[in-house]
Amino acid sequence: MLDFAAQYAAFQRRDPAWDGIVFVAVRTTGVYCRPVCRARTPLARNVRFYGSAASAERAGYRPCLRCRPEAAPFCPAWKGTRTTVERALALIEQGALDCGDVEALADRLGIGARHLSRLFAEHLDASPLQVALSLRVQRAKRLIDESDLPLFVVAQRAGFSSARRMTAAFARLYGRSPTSLRRRRLPGVTMQ
Ligand SMILES: [Zn+2]
Repeated sequence: MLDFAAQYAAFQRRDPAWDGIVFVAVRTTGVYCRPVCRARTPLARNVRFYGSAASAERAGYRPCLRCRPEAAPFCPAWKGTRTTVERALALIEQGALDCGDVEALADRLGIGARHLSRLFAEHLDASPLQVALSLRVQRAKRLIDESDLPLFVVAQRAGFSSARRMTAAFARLYGRSPTSLRRRRLPGVTMQ
């Protein structure tokens, strides 16, 4: 595990080399950021670091609307070395857990479900289902940002079983509805 001082120093200088490797959560705001975020650097005592966006979310933090930590790249250092996790992530990204379950996903990778969950806990500090939900929200967020598709279509394309489920996930994660996020991008409205 990386030590706190090194992570905080990287965060203070907004070091892009740490982007995707650590995620910075701020206790006072309940928001987590990429280390490159341009927001004012909070006091060290209010800061927590996480190894993945999913684990920051699991700890109850919402993604920052300015730096979009939920869309940060995965750490390049482990790309290619942790092949099984990578393949699992690719399959999840393609929707493997939107219509199938963790057992079926593990089957496709030639390992047991418990082993897969252990690998996820070790490398991503989150379960396959948490990662799937995180990716689903990320897909939906992108569609909301980049299209004018009706919300039920966004939900469908993002892999949610219903618009209601999507709204619930957004409420939990962002503390607001998908519609309110869409309104934010209208001309004349500045992002926070
Ligand atoms: Zn931020």
